[in-house]
Amino acid sequence: MKKKIIILPGDGIGKEVTAEGKRVLEKIAEIFDHTFEFEEAVIGHDAIESTGQSLPDETLSKLRNCDAILFGAVGHPKYDNDPTLKVRPEQGLLKMRKELGLYANLRPIRLFDELLESSSIKAEILRGADILFFRELTGDVYFGEKGRKDDGRTAYDVMIYHRYEIERIAHKAFQAACTRKRKVTSVDKANVLESSRLWRETVQEISKQYADVTLEHLFVDSAAMKLIQNPRSFDVILTGNLFGDILTDEASQIAGSMGMLASASVGDTVGLYEPIHGSAHDITGKGIANPLASILSVALLLDISFGLKEEADTVIKAVEQTLKAGFRTVDIANPKTVKEKIVNTQTMGNCVLKQLSMINEPISQ
Ligand code: NAD
Repeated sequence: MKKKIIILPGDGIGKEVTAEGKRVLEKIAEIFDHTFEFEEAVIGHDAIESTGQSLPDETLSKLRNCDAILFGAVGHPKYDNDPTLKVRPEQGLLKMRKELGLYANLRPIRLFDELLESSSIKAEILRGADILFFRELTGDVYFGEKGRKDDGRTAYDVMIYHRYEIERIAHKAFQAACTRKRKVTSVDKANVLESSRLWRETVQEISKQYADVTLEHLFVDSAAMKLIQNPRSFDVILTGNLFGDILTDEASQIAGSMGMLASASVGDTVGLYEPIHGSAHDITGKGIANPLASILSVALLLDISFGLKEEADTVIKAVEQTLKAGFRTVDIANPKTVKEKIVNTQTMGNCVLKQLSMINEPISQ
């Protein structure tokens, strides 16, 4: 198979983890005899510094002409500490999602048995949890009207949803549930918000087309509590942009660390694959970032954009074997376990590459 992949490292640890994701793609191409052509592009703080735009036109045109995108993260302390700056790295990310029509963000919460003890949640509560989030990505307060009035002393962000936006992601969530445990939990705040009442009404109507899928509704506050109390009770969670943003960070603790969670953003054109974490200024340049979320994003890319299920499963298996062999970056290290070997970002990448080679070595006669 011949495919063109754009590598969009972005800022901070985005660069460090995406380098490892790319090496895994190269290895998969070598093992399975594919041709992956790579091209890099800039976004975020680096792009602002070099072009004045957080998503330069040149980057956008490259993204429109490829088969898949592997993205890192955007963000820089300069902007976090100065809310008055008008051109901001995250604008590039939001524009990219909007321009490419990436309306559905899939976030699988995959818990590797080897990390059961690394989570801050008790192992007996976590064991067997397997959740797939569908977070809507192109609506909500992120894209509603926003502004200031009264000489800047009052600010507003409008929470807005159109029916078609809810319908298209609801279909994706129900379709996914049909291949899993056939349960969709729709999360909203319909007791307070009108946009949530439209959300609930629309999801209820769509559910009639999926009679063998059970639909439950939860208010976001209750969902936040139940995620930690009983994560096993969920299968597919369908929710809006803001609630999904918050709940998936919370759910990262089910997987042990932010550094373990991959995501896919899809719509009707090219797919974008990225870890759920940000640019993590606190650890940038230290070489300690966990690259597994980026590597697991590669597995999603292979599966969803290229339909290469065997290759995707091989990447997941290699990550599992790496963890079984005891290799850990600091974020997933368990201080109680002496058998673990603490490694840096690049060494973790090397371990996964080694496992990929071993999984695919012909068994000697
Ligand atoms: P963050 O996700 O960058 O970091 C949160 C915490 O998790 C930090 O302590 C960090 O060290 C840790 N962490 C994150 N990824 C890790 C990894 N791979 N390995 C080990 N530890 C990891 O969130 P934040 O600190 O709130 O934000 C930092 C910057 O990232 C901000 O500028 C923010 O705007 C940006 N951000 C970008 C995205 C994105 O590009 N998709 C998402 C969230 C935040």
